[in-house]
Amino acid sequence: MTTRKLLLLSGDGIGPETMGEVRKFIAYMNEAHSAGFELEEGHVGGVAYDTHGQSISETDMAKAMAADAVLFGAVGGPKWDSVPYDVRPEAGLLRLRKEMELFANLRPAICYPALASASSLRQDVVEGLDILIVRELTGGVYFGDPKEITDLGNGQKRAVDTQVYDTYEIERIAGVAFELARTRSNKVTSMEKRNVMKSGVLWNEVVTQTHKANYQDVELDHMLADAGGMQLVRWPKQFDVIVTDNLFGDMLSDVAAMLTGSLGMLPSASFGAPDEKTGSRKALYEPVHGSAPDIAGQGIANPIAMLASFAMCLRYSFNMVAEADQLEKAIANVLDRGVRTTDIASDGIKPVGTVEMGDTVLAEFKSLMG
Ligand code: NAD
Repeated sequence: MTTRKLLLLSGDGIGPETMGEVRKFIAYMNEAHSAGFELEEGHVGGVAYDTHGQSISETDMAKAMAADAVLFGAVGGPKWDSVPYDVRPEAGLLRLRKEMELFANLRPAICYPALASASSLRQDVVEGLDILIVRELTGGVYFGDPKEITDLGNGQKRAVDTQVYDTYEIERIAGVAFELARTRSNKVTSMEKRNVMKSGVLWNEVVTQTHKANYQDVELDHMLADAGGMQLVRWPKQFDVIVTDNLFGDMLSDVAAMLTGSLGMLPSASFGAPDEKTGSRKALYEPVHGSAPDIAGQGIANPIAMLASFAMCLRYSFNMVAEADQLEKAIANVLDRGVRTTDIASDGIKPVGTVEMGDTVLAEFKSLMG
């Protein structure tokens, strides 16, 4: 039987509550479908600080490095606002991204038909939307040197951030985007600012070369990132996969995400390079939302972003495409039937809690799986 090593890092706030719903799916799939998930547990964020005085312990870091995939809940909260900077909760997530070398961040923006009316855009603009933003996560202006504020000595200061990309960084993120496009609608739009930035000129050149060398079967468009931002809110359905750098990706993925409604609905995945021997990639899956301290412990958090992150894990780390499809379909069907948590509640519908939403999606998943 295949063994699938999965590390669960639930974290803080609503993290453990939403992760609890994923556990039920794992237990069911192991029992009824011999899925072979082998679970490890660890601490990250505030809970790790309380337990080990670190935002993630060496032992848990080693488990993350050895796992086939990591499922991450959320970290942070007011309780840890005054802990030292290098052991703050977010440092655990940054360390995971850095040491697992997770250079590709994937954020799908899918608009479930039942929630189209909740978008700030017109229903016909977002209904049926299904796009994927692929953001470069470990390079660019967030990491480039120099990064400093200098006192100029005349009452003025100068702040410098450096946008820097090497060819290999652009090649590998473009490769991820083209490969993902092949599993979807086969179209990539690359976004940069080649009109004003040298890094944009190189980005455009390398994406074009990568396409020519290996991916000519995929349709490729280039768009300036500012125009891309406009097009995302004008007619987002024109896009399939968007590939862009760290800074533009940060902003454009937030815009795309909010086209679809609540933060409680949005999954994400981050990938490293493929292993030379096995071909499998290090991967971490997490909801886009944080630890939601305002509702933590009340049993009302929406578990769908966490469940949809697990669906991405099934699809991308374990190639369990049918199961991923059915889980995503189960979520859509349950929403179609009007089942809602508080964050997506509509008039006249009594919202359900975290556990009831999880149970309802699981029951639907079981019936779809037969
Ligand atoms: P947040 O995403 O935690 O919450 C923003 C708002 O959305 C809150 O009103 C919250 O109740 C609501 N919300 C979020 N997820 C929800 C869900 N699943 N169901 C229902 N409602 C949901 O962002 P914030 O309030 O800015 O940050 C809170 C803490 O989380 C901070 O400590 C922040 O640093 C941390 N944070 C962590 C991550 C992460 O772990 N990846 C991401 C963002 C923020």
